[in-house]
Amino acid sequence: MESNARRIESILTDSTGRTWLATNTFLFYIDEETDELMRMRGFYRALQMRPSPVSEIFEDPYGRLWFGIWGRGLASYDPESEALQWEYQGLSDLRGDLIHDMDYVAGSGHWAATRYSGLLHRPSGESEWREYSSMGDTSLNLPSDTILCLYTDYDGSLWLCTELGLVHVNTDTLSTRAWSRVDGLPSDRILALHDDLDGHLWIATGQGLARLDESSGRIISFGLNDGLPAMEFQRRAITRDSFGNIYAGTVRGAVRFEPSGLNIETRAPQVALSRVWADDIEITPRLRGANVEIHLPRDHRNLVIQYSVLDFHEPERNSARYRLVGLHNEWSQLTDSRQLIFPRLAPGEYSLEVEGWNSHGIAAEPILRVPVVVAHPWWMNWWVVILAFAGLAAFIVLIVNLRFQSLARLNRRLDQQVQERTQELEALNAQLREQSQTDYLTSLPNRRGFTEKFAWLRAQMERYQRPFSLVLFDVDHFKRLNDVHGHDAGDQVLIALSELLRQRLREQDIPGRWGGEEFAILLPETNAEQACMVCENLRKHLERMVVEYNTESLQVTATFGIYAGEQRGTSIEHWMSNADAALYHGKQQGRNCSVIFSPSLITN
Ligand code: GH3
Ligand code: MG
Ligand code: MG
Repeated sequence: MESNARRIESILTDSTGRTWLATNTFLFYIDEETDELMRMRGFYRALQMRPSPVSEIFEDPYGRLWFGIWGRGLASYDPESEALQWEYQGLSDLRGDLIHDMDYVAGSGHWAATRYSGLLHRPSGESEWREYSSMGDTSLNLPSDTILCLYTDYDGSLWLCTELGLVHVNTDTLSTRAWSRVDGLPSDRILALHDDLDGHLWIATGQGLARLDESSGRIISFGLNDGLPAMEFQRRAITRDSFGNIYAGTVRGAVRFEPSGLNIETRAPQVALSRVWADDIEITPRLRGANVEIHLPRDHRNLVIQYSVLDFHEPERNSARYRLVGLHNEWSQLTDSRQLIFPRLAPGEYSLEVEGWNSHGIAAEPILRVPVVVAHPWWMNWWVVILAFAGLAAFIVLIVNLRFQSLARLNRRLDQQVQERTQELEALNAQLREQSQTDYLTSLPNRRGFTEKFAWLRAQMERYQRPFSLVLFDVDHFKRLNDVHGHDAGDQVLIALSELLRQRLREQDIPGRWGGEEFAILLPETNAEQACMVCENLRKHLERMVVEYNTESLQVTATFGIYAGEQRGTSIEHWMSNADAALYHGKQQGRNCSVIFSPSLITN
């Protein structure tokens, strides 16, 4: 080769018999007559661009050739008319994007795989290309935008090699199904695909070969222990001969095998706990038995778990992933590490789940499940909570009760005090009332007290229609006694006079001091004549009464006026003025006598 081309990206012998070579510098073909490698002259000029790498050559069923051009897109070439033209120019030069692979699916159209821009599709009968990427508004669900190969199998199904797994595209519905490491693939980086005569799909990856059973969807993978010379396969380097042998290219050379002759072990591995430590103390011996459960105290610092995937075909290719349900429910990445460390788990119940795969990609069944229980503190218990609530309720009831009792006690005491005070006040009132109605010198009812008693007696007597009399009497020449013997002597006489009244009157009779040396008497059930007899009796006793004052013996007389009213409801003033009229008459008659009122006394 006369150019500085270092790498052949694609090689194709078209239906006319011409062989094309896509390289990292130019597009070449082999001249049929001279058998020489020729540059495709005028190619770049026709596309109006400088020479650049060609990444893919493809011939569709109509004999049209397609070229994937680095950083630009797709050009097509019609060998008959020798017409060359751009078909798609959507790739970005700057990003080093290119067409990795191209294919035609009957009934669906042209498909192209790009390095960074996802999947391109030109439906049959259209000239526009549709772009499908993993992000954005797209009706096709792709795990990655890096599509490393396209493959159409024997029954026309479209398959994609991506950096994140194998994808099957239903070209009718544009729905997808994907497989990744957790489905048993040895790696997510898929590099080449080919079917075998039994209808299985062979998958070359960056870390081994795998076989997909399309009907069951199950994958079995192969590694060095199955006879592979190397694990790292080359992109799009897989094919099959007419006998059914499959050839695949690896970094160390090609491998050839007959798929139906492979003895495939499909036994599932086992995942098992090996050792467990809590706070650096091994507790594995405690975990023997049918139902293994890990119990940790509340104040534990860490939990370390070692587990194993029991399959010895190619143990270093066994893989696993885990999750601690209750802490994080997402599965971990697939890992080769067989040791898990959980620092200081909060009290609660967890379930450690481990899924494992053997080197064939066969998943352990069932998965490992180990309950992990971290003790709650003693008070985080339903009965403690109930007791606490009950205690609190009882305490509140007690406090309320005590408060009520003390309030009731206070109330009773207040009631009692109010009652006592009321009684005291009433007594005081009665006393004051008594005092206000009593004469201080003689202790007889004064004018106010006598007036009240008069009203009461009058009501009584009128009610029972009984007679009563009023007597008014006045000490004779009392002024003279005062003048001769002194005022104090006069007081002693008045006191003696009141004593006399008390002694001589009946129980029901009511004496009173009307004012000065004037006294009044109410005589119930007594008519004027009977009253006059009472007065005469009193007058005589008074006449004989001697009051010893110092060395002197004092004697007084008094004049009595009597009135016994006939008319109902007459006032005390009326009674008094009539009694006074009789008394006045007595004074005029010469004093020391008793006079019964008669109307004739007033007219005189
Ligand atoms: P008469 O026979 O007309 O009633 O003459 P009298 O002196 O009794 O009448 P008068 O009304 O002129 O005098 C009443 C006197 O009684 C005047 C007053 O000083 C005296 N007196 C009134 N109340 C008291 C009292 O409580 N104690 C004393 N010692 N004297 C009193
Ligand atoms: Mg008088
Ligand atoms: Mg007098």
